[in-house]
Amino acid sequence: MLLNQVPAIITGGGSGLGAATARTFAVAGARVAIFDRDLSAAKRIASETGGIGLEVDVSDPESVAQAFKKVKQNFGIPRALVNCAGIGTASRILPRDGTLPISDFIRTLNVNLTGSYITMSHAAQLMSEATPLNDDGERGVIINTSSVGYEDGQIGQCAYAASKGGIASMTLPAARELARIGVRVMAIAPGLFATAMTDTLPDAAREAIAANIPFPKRLGKAQEFADLARHIVENTMLNGTVIRLDGAVRLQAR
Ligand code: NAP
Repeated sequence: MLLNQVPAIITGGGSGLGAATARTFAVAGARVAIFDRDLSAAKRIASETGGIGLEVDVSDPESVAQAFKKVKQNFGIPRALVNCAGIGTASRILPRDGTLPISDFIRTLNVNLTGSYITMSHAAQLMSEATPLNDDGERGVIINTSSVGYEDGQIGQCAYAASKGGIASMTLPAARELARIGVRVMAIAPGLFATAMTDTLPDAAREAIAANIPFPKRLGKAQEFADLARHIVENTMLNGTVIRLDGAVRLQAR
């Protein structure tokens, strides 16, 4: 599917991997809608890309429903959805202070996993009403963002790894189900990328992670994620699978 003139939604598009994806899709001719809980960030990227920026909490079904309505009114039916909204939480099952961080677990699953499912559902519903864009009968593409933590979760990443594992696990059943309407579903599992999410890590931690990457020995660039997202949209044979984008890194236990 070509991105030229195509309405595309990027959640978490106000920052990091999502912002790079919005810029890349806009350069390819897409009309981008940026969903982010940070409205000023969404509007900043929207004004850079000629798109629209909306305040959306992806874990809130009503907020997502309203935003999809606005996209349809402004641009028509979205043909690409890239889910980048997410939070990176770290907490042990048994913290030393004796508390049980169960609410952190629930919040992480709600934003990362349920949020991706909610937006995917709305995108699929609208895409099912659209006319096919090519001879294959393709109506749209959905890309969810997992993480290498889905396979190599570290100590303290139970919630994050479970949320990203859920995203990876729903890729195939979603692709199988939505094949009927000509919608592909893919997931990207990034290693460590230089964004606001990883900025908060101490330099020593980032250097240690980079040293553990076989090649290239550096954090990923948001543009490299965006380039893969664009390729997935444009390559119709990519469907139902998770692509690790990680320089061959395998995370250690801590
Ligand atoms: P980022 O720079 O923090 O961007 C994430 C964006 O999502 C932020 O603008 C954030 O807003 C927004 N967001 C958070 N919760 C939201 C919600 N409920 N509804 C709508 N928007 C929400 O992070 P990133 O590094 O680009 O991460 C993008 C995705 O890639 C995430 O799913 C992350 O788990 C995944 N990932 C990142 C890396 C990495 O190394 N960077 C590696 C593997 C996977 P706030 O700033 O207000 O929170």
